[in-house]
Amino acid sequence: MLNFFIVTATAVVNSKRNKAKMNMKCQRCGKETCATIMSMFNTEMICISCKEDEQKRPDYQDAVKADEMAIGQGNFNFRGIGFR
Ligand SMILES: [Zn+2]
Repeated sequence: MLNFFIVTATAVVNSKRNKAKMNMKCQRCGKETCATIMSMFNTEMICISCKEDEQKRPDYQDAVKADEMAIGQGNFNFRGIGFR
């Protein structure tokens, strides 16, 4: 029974720690977010709503193609076509 309490207490402490870790900031709009994804235009880590805005841009497909082409050429450090 004592073990049960110890496990529960540890789980609570861990979940609090994880929450603190999840306070990431979007590098584009600066808002706090629980999930970030890399921009297709540059190496910024951005939030989901910024990513959605990015996907609506007319030049998004160009950015995707440039990224795929760079990877096809073995360039895994491609920094994107640049966010304008
Ligand atoms: Zn954002």
